[in-house]
Amino acid sequence: MSDVLVVGAGPTGLLLASELVLAGASVVLVDKRLERSGQSKALSLQPRSVEILHSRGLLESLLPEGRELPGGHFAGLPLDYSALETRFPYQLGIPQLRIEQHLEDHLARQGVAVRRGVELTGLVQDSTGVTAEFAGGESIRASWVVGCDGARSAVRQLSGIGFPGRDGRYSAVVADVVIDGVEADWQLPELEPRDGAVLTLLPLGGGGDRILFTGPEQQGLPKDHPVSYEEVAAALTSWYGEGVVLKELRYASRFTDAVRQADRYRAGRVFVAGDAAHIHSPTGGQGMNLGLQDAFNLGWKLGAVVRGESPDRLLDSYHEERHPAGAAVLANTRAQGVLMVPDDDVAALRETFAELLQLPEANRLLAGVISGLAVAYSPGEHRLVGHRMPDLELTDGSTVMQELRRGRTIVVEPRDGSIARAIVRPDGYVQAAR
Ligand SMILES: Cc1cc2nc3c(=O)[nH]c(=O)nc-3n(C[C@H](O)[C@H](O)[C@H](O)COP(=O)(O)OP(=O)(O)OC[C@H]3O[C@@H](n4cnc5c(N)ncnc54)[C@H](O)[C@@H]3O)c2cc1C
Repeated sequence: MSDVLVVGAGPTGLLLASELVLAGASVVLVDKRLERSGQSKALSLQPRSVEILHSRGLLESLLPEGRELPGGHFAGLPLDYSALETRFPYQLGIPQLRIEQHLEDHLARQGVAVRRGVELTGLVQDSTGVTAEFAGGESIRASWVVGCDGARSAVRQLSGIGFPGRDGRYSAVVADVVIDGVEADWQLPELEPRDGAVLTLLPLGGGGDRILFTGPEQQGLPKDHPVSYEEVAAALTSWYGEGVVLKELRYASRFTDAVRQADRYRAGRVFVAGDAAHIHSPTGGQGMNLGLQDAFNLGWKLGAVVRGESPDRLLDSYHEERHPAGAAVLANTRAQGVLMVPDDDVAALRETFAELLQLPEANRLLAGVISGLAVAYSPGEHRLVGHRMPDLELTDGSTVMQELRRGRTIVVEPRDGSIARAIVRPDGYVQAAR
């Protein structure tokens, strides 16, 4: 029997599996796909995710291929990240696919290979473990199962976890393209609609660009309705004029602003994380980051319980800490959606909002949420108490970071006397400080 079965090898499942191995748990990681999709939905890491990779020694080799992007945005209004208390006050522009490859390579070095072509179809739990069944008839038993299997999560459905929320109100297209006649740059999206349509073009590197657009023609189409070359070409021409040529359409799909969140992140021996636990519009670039942060919260806790060093109730704190963080992202993407509605009255609201964001406090508040640095804190023995490692003034920082890379709880006694003693959790949060 394995300690943990992780279902889904997207960014959430890969980081979780890696954290579990670091914590000394035996892990089986399965994915129904025979190979990686080859697509990058997310294009950047938010500051908290950069901190996470750094704290496990996984950042350094990614940095040379990443690009520091200035700040973030809220409904297209710029957020200044320099106000954030972090040593990484920027987004790291790097495609999701590269992050997944990097995590999968790291996992392979730890001795775990993703078992591909394995689709979960059944789940039965009892007091000692969970039996998981796969298409084709194979089954395995594990003490714990984590569903990192995306928005339509089989784990979530099979374990009876509810997914309340609403369907999308608009439909949009994302496509990776090669075009001639216009140069993409990392500008914030232009939200002034033209004939009811909006379009954003971002550079992907390697000669390709990312285009996101929505307009009257895209509404009412089912999410799996194929995106044609003609549809993308027409959107480009009506936005930029006839001089722009779509040379290659590498990948395209539709997305919506549907919002749903699992009503509980734990059902006995089963957990959900990442898109399996929450979906929302991609506005602000938060979904993958939220999933990575879920994984980083749950991994060390499951590890500590598997090793017999912590009681089962530690695992309840996963829902207590991460459900509010997910709810905050759902709320802010909904608010951003309203601010982007093409309407004169909303335009007035946007202007007011833009003025408010000039206030340092307002900027700090929203930048904190979008960057993943501000999470809901709950009092209690095992809950977040509000400080991460990068907040602490530690003169012995490098030694502490080395300890953190082992993924264990550490006791810190800063020589600068700022605090007498702190117990730092493996995810970098201070559990207690005196
Ligand atoms: C257009 C668009 C742009 C986006 N931009 C950003 C951005 O800029 N920043 C950001 O942070 N996020 C962004 N996101 C969101 C981000 O891509 C997702 O949040 C992220 O992929 C979630 O990762 P995950 O690992 O939780 O799930 P997924 O990436 O969906 O991975 C789930 C895995 O589970 C597997 N699986 C599913 N069912 C089963 C089963 N029954 N058995 C076995 N395996 C199974 C799948 O094959 C898949 O590999 C964007 C999303 C979209 C649509």
